[in-house]
Amino acid sequence: MKKILQRWYDMIAINSVNGREVDMADYVAKELRSMGLEPHYSWFPEDTAKERPSLWATLDSGKPGKTLLLIGHLDTVDVRAENWATDPFTPTEKEGKVYGRGAMDMKGGLAAILDTAEYYAGHKEEFTGKILLCFVADEEGLSKGTYQLCAENAIAADWAIMAECRYDNVAVGFRGRYSFEVTVHGTAAHASYYPEKGENALVSAGKLAAAIEALPTLTHPHLNHGTWCVRYMEGGNPGTLVVPDSCYLFVDRYVVPGENDETCIAQILEAAKSLGLEGKVDVRLKPRSSPYMQSFALPEDHPLVTTLQSTFAEVTGKDLPCAYDPSVCDSNILAVTLGIPVVTFGPSGGNMHGDNEYGYPWQVEDCAGIYKRMVAKMLPPE
Ligand SMILES: [Zn+2]
Repeated sequence: MKKILQRWYDMIAINSVNGREVDMADYVAKELRSMGLEPHYSWFPEDTAKERPSLWATLDSGKPGKTLLLIGHLDTVDVRAENWATDPFTPTEKEGKVYGRGAMDMKGGLAAILDTAEYYAGHKEEFTGKILLCFVADEEGLSKGTYQLCAENAIAADWAIMAECRYDNVAVGFRGRYSFEVTVHGTAAHASYYPEKGENALVSAGKLAAAIEALPTLTHPHLNHGTWCVRYMEGGNPGTLVVPDSCYLFVDRYVVPGENDETCIAQILEAAKSLGLEGKVDVRLKPRSSPYMQSFALPEDHPLVTTLQSTFAEVTGKDLPCAYDPSVCDSNILAVTLGIPVVTFGPSGGNMHGDNEYGYPWQVEDCAGIYKRMVAKMLPPE
């Protein structure tokens, strides 16, 4: 078996379900060392059990130049093994597809990155500048791995290729996402005095929920529009004769470029004001341990995009259209938090996040070929 495919198989066989990525990290670190590279481990401060590292390594040509980042995630989503036709941690080829957890998302992408690194570790005369290699934990959770590398200033690059699983197109734009907690206040009173006394927060919150979902969003030619979704409400007490004096709403919001948490909060407060609820509504971003992700879109004529498209055509003979993703991924962090132009492209497959996930060996090999050519073009030798 070719080394690139052997690595892919090896990694599928390693259980790296989100929450315990250390075995995958150790495998990748071993492969990097075998190329003469030095892997750096990054740990979450709260990870006292040392089970959730991310890794980064620099492949330096020894000559001045730009830096190209190749990045992927070590973790996978969980498995329900009883629903699988094969063992999810035993890569199994059937009719040109290889089945296993992570076969698509995204151990093929990692295999392609490692293959590219190995080639250039042995051919430093064929590029200038640096190739930065990042392998992160927790992408399937809160993306803490990428945020941690940001916090440690480990990620500095001129361009990035996110080797996530999408082969028929290149994602150049993603929406962003926020969650808000809204508390609507009323006035408690004995229910027998209502409505002369008391103000029912549930009724106000119901009106506000409908008003929130009717709020406009900005639009984008490719990311279409944002979303407003009231996902949860809670308030009142069925056990006591009291007019409810508060109601909690959980609001989910996908955003397009130009929208952020502040614009969203202003919109919710404006909706409250128009209902006569000014001063009776508190809104805040739902606290979470990682920052929220903003939306971005890289121009389709950006050299990173056009170079990837022409390289894809050289290798496959086909066009690579630009695509826009309605959700978020670690590419948002690279693009928004770090300002790095990023394309999201890598070997794909089927049944992503589902049972009987699979990938295609030829796509893993094609992507390695494409990444190698991208290095030569973006970091050309003198
Ligand atoms: Zn993924």
